Amino acid sequence: MMLIDTHCHLYLSKYDYDLKEVVERAIQSGVKKIFLPAIDAETHERLIKLADKELKASNGTAIRKEDFEILPTMGVHPCSIKENFEEELAIAHAHLTSGRKFYAVGEIGLDYYWDVTFKEQQIRAFERQIEWSIEMNLPIVIHSRNSTVDCINILRQYEGRAKGIFHCFSGSVEEAREITRMGFYLGIGGVITYKTSDLKDVIAKIGLKNIVLETDAPYLTPLPHRGKRNEPSYIKLVCAAIAQALNKDMDRVAQITSENALAVFQMNS
Ligand SMILES: [Zn+2]
Ligand SMILES: [Zn+2]
Repeated sequence: MMLIDTHCHLYLSKYDYDLKEVVERAIQSGVKKIFLPAIDAETHERLIKLADKELKASNGTAIRKEDFEILPTMGVHPCSIKENFEEELAIAHAHLTSGRKFYAVGEIGLDYYWDVTFKEQQIRAFERQIEWSIEMNLPIVIHSRNSTVDCINILRQYEGRAKGIFHCFSGSVEEAREITRMGFYLGIGGVITYKTSDLKDVIAKIGLKNIVLETDAPYLTPLPHRGKRNEPSYIKLVCAAIAQALNKDMDRVAQITSENALAVFQMNS
């Protein structure tokens, strides 16, 4: 079984003391690729360092890229858009144009849940970063919280040009249909395992065609581990919940969502 975690903050300090074990458990669970979404300048260096790291198994042998790889993206998260957002954007843009390979512009978007003080700036930064992605022919990784309608409206301006993933999707069937109609993928994570979530019904209605898997680790831990730190090996639990919602086997869900992930990140294997 091949699984791809399209969204995991594995470079955060929560993994400092046991990264090797976390990576080994991911590999044992069938995870072949992990994409690292960026947050802001405070953690960009950590993200790049992890993506460059030569990974070794506990017996000391090098982990081959064909078996497992950690892939960087770059952008400024909407929660990090404050007074100094121009500076943050300049730093992310410098990374994106440094010659290093990044697989997406992300995570970018709108978050009205925590704070709306910088709503106008969030919108400007989102639009600017979408424009970079079009210039650079990269997908975007979108973070939206209490802002799905605004995100959709902004994406309509770039319809047919922007592409990517609506990460941690938790909207309605109508929103899912509109997002996938524009060619975007929906990132589904641990929330689907929560009893109060209606994501299972949404997935049952829209099917697997535009679905990719993610953990958003260390956040949004699926059941039965909710309340503890999340990690990429738990993506199996997300895969299982989707399989159950669609009455399909996990292998099939893993295969289709992995093909979708490779397609959106423009990779052959
Ligand atoms: Zn996010
Ligand atoms: Zn994230």
